[in-house]
Amino acid sequence: MAFEGLAERLQGTLKKIRGKGKVNEQDVKEMMREVRLALLEADVNFKVVKKFIADVKERAIGEEVLDSLTPGQQVIKVVNEELTKLMGGEQSKIAVSQKPPTVIMMVGLQGAGKTTTTGKLANHLRKKHNRNPLMVAADIYRPAAIKQLETLGKQLSMPVFSLGDQVSPVDIAKQAMAKAKEDHHDYVLIDTAGRLHVDNELMDELVQIKEATSPDEILLVVDAMTGQDAVNVAESFNEQLGITGAILTKLDGDTRGGAAISVKAVTDTPIKFAGVGEKIDALEPFHPERMASRILGMGDVLTLIEKAQTNVDEERAKELERKMRTNDLTFDDFLEQLAQVRSMGPLDELLDMMPGAGKMKGLKNIQVDEKQIGHIEAIVKSMTKAERETPSLLNASRRKRIAKGSGTSIQEVNRLIKQFDEMKKMMKQMSGMQKGKGKKKGGL
Ligand code: GDP
Repeated sequence: MAFEGLAERLQGTLKKIRGKGKVNEQDVKEMMREVRLALLEADVNFKVVKKFIADVKERAIGEEVLDSLTPGQQVIKVVNEELTKLMGGEQSKIAVSQKPPTVIMMVGLQGAGKTTTTGKLANHLRKKHNRNPLMVAADIYRPAAIKQLETLGKQLSMPVFSLGDQVSPVDIAKQAMAKAKEDHHDYVLIDTAGRLHVDNELMDELVQIKEATSPDEILLVVDAMTGQDAVNVAESFNEQLGITGAILTKLDGDTRGGAAISVKAVTDTPIKFAGVGEKIDALEPFHPERMASRILGMGDVLTLIEKAQTNVDEERAKELERKMRTNDLTFDDFLEQLAQVRSMGPLDELLDMMPGAGKMKGLKNIQVDEKQIGHIEAIVKSMTKAERETPSLLNASRRKRIAKGSGTSIQEVNRLIKQFDEMKKMMKQMSGMQKGKGKKKGGL
């Protein structure tokens, strides 16, 4: 996952303060020094760091926090909220025009992932929102761009509007608009040209396309791996073109990710999506609060559940979410989840979303080792119905019986029960922190 280094350092720093019964100003200041270094090391823009630290300090040193019964946790809560705010606060959705088609211009430097992301976004709009987008090949300079978009269109069985590379991008855009209206497309996604660096010629062309199509969204596609340069690029595009949001790509890599965080702060426009792989469905709506939780090691249960929903019926997923929040999770649910998790994709990626997974080293090993997953299943299946539903019944003699029945050892049984308890505890803590989040705005 991107942000791994940042996550590790922040979690290390916050751990020191988490359990403290008493926290003074000096503790907070020391902690913030470490947080500052962690952010700078993760390549977050220095101006952004400065403001972030000042905001957290002001709130964390307030009486409300220091005099509270759990000051350590309160400080972490403040960091979590400010980090969420830094990354955009509420999730920002894609515009829906009152007068279809909704027009989205995809802009950015060459190699950032515009063409790929155009395909991903078209796929997302159709699959998740039942829309009927038209993709437009307006990058006539990069030799392979038109072909690439057409290939994506074929792969998705979705139309691509192209006039080759001899017609100007502005004319292509204009004619695409007419075609979209004629064929009743509700979205138009224009894949524009990029350059290796921002230059005036490119900007002039983009401004002309903007004037010709009056886009509802101008989305800047930013490669999260590009470091501080991403901030400069975002600033230029925003100044000259006025962007409405950003899509961060390559967040699946081991990027430090900090520059990406800064894009929101510098342009004051939201991050709408994150690209997390080369495949066509590797695009996720960007949820600042979930990303902040992930970075701080509190997990991202909602995304986990959404992933599960692709495989599971919705009612059941909602029920599981409720159980996680109210701390009613049983061993049966645990087993069911384990089965789902195995069918949901790369385990490492999923583990990053689990609260405190980094800390639960044992769980990490078990998850990756298929044989041990088999053991977990055997252990849970050797429990009686009552034991699965009320784990507190599991005294020493019951544990011994279960170990025998499952062909495992009492140590393994103990370990699993402990991990289960820890997971429940962590979920309870996290749901406490997530209470009172704001309402969603309109859009897709
Ligand atoms: P463009 O020049 O901006 O149109 O960039 P492309 O769409 O051609 O993408 C450049 C490269 O980045 C391609 O090899 C893509 O497969 C890759 N890419 C795009 N988005 C992602 C992403 O989210 N994760 C990964 N790992 N690769 C990506």
